[in-house]
Amino acid sequence: MRVLMIAPPGAGKGTQGALIAAHFGIPHIATGELLRDHVTQRTSLGLAVQEYLDRGELVPDQVVLDMVREAMVAAKAAGGGYVLDGIPRNMQQARAAYLIARELGMTADVALHLDADDAEVTRRLLARAALEHRSDDTADVIAGRLALYHRVTAPIICWYRDRGILVSVDAMRPVQQIRREILTALDGMRPLLDSEAASARHPGDLATLAEAFGVTGPAAAPRG
Ligand code: ADP
Repeated sequence: MRVLMIAPPGAGKGTQGALIAAHFGIPHIATGELLRDHVTQRTSLGLAVQEYLDRGELVPDQVVLDMVREAMVAAKAAGGGYVLDGIPRNMQQARAAYLIARELGMTADVALHLDADDAEVTRRLLARAALEHRSDDTADVIAGRLALYHRVTAPIICWYRDRGILVSVDAMRPVQQIRREILTALDGMRPLLDSEAASARHPGDLATLAEAFGVTGPAAAPRG
C-alpha cells in the first residue's frame, strides 16, 4: 500500500499516518518529523532549517526532496509500501515527488485528504501547544501555516482527484472514527491494487499529470 497524505496542519496527518503505517506494516515517512529530528540533533541540516520551522515557512524544496528520496529508497528495500506525510506541499513538490516515485516504480496508490476546517485545526494546535511546546504552535505562526496551506498546498488536491487516486475523509471527528474510515477505504482497495499491474497505471498517471501541470501553470487560472 502506497499512500500520500494531504491535510492542513492539525488535521491529524501524523496520528493517522502512524496508524496506517502500523496497520499495513509499512514505513511512515513524515517530513516534519525528519526535519525536527535534525533540529534536535543539531545536525548541519537541522541548523539550516530551524528558522523555517520556527516561522512556519516551507523549507527549500530540494532539502525535503533529498530526504524523501533517501526514505523512499529505504522503503523500496523494505517491501515498497509507504505512508508519505508532509509532502507534497506545493506544486513543485507534487511534480518532483511523483517523478521520484515513478523512477523507483512506486507511485502512490492513494492520495489521502484529511478534511478539517480552520477553526477546528487551530483549536487542536493551540491545545497541543500547551502540551508539546512546538516552536511553530503559536497563534500567529499557526495562522500563517494555515494560510500557506490554503494558498499553495490545497490546490494540489484536485490533481489527485483527476488521477483517480483521491480519498477524502472528514477529519473533524474522533481519532478512532477517522482511523476506521480510512482503514476500511484502504483495505477495500487492496484487491483492486493487487489485480492491477502497477505498470498499467503509470502511463495514465503521467498523461494526467502532464496535462494538469500544463494547464495549471503559474500564469493559468486555477481549475475547479
Ligand atoms: P504541520 O502539518 O502541522 O505544519 P509538519 O510536521 O508536517 O507539521 O511540518 C512542520 C514544518 O516542517 C513545516 O511548517 C515546514 O517548515 C517543514 N516542512 C515539513 N514538510 C515540508 C515540505 N514538504 N516542504 C517544506 N517544508 C516542510
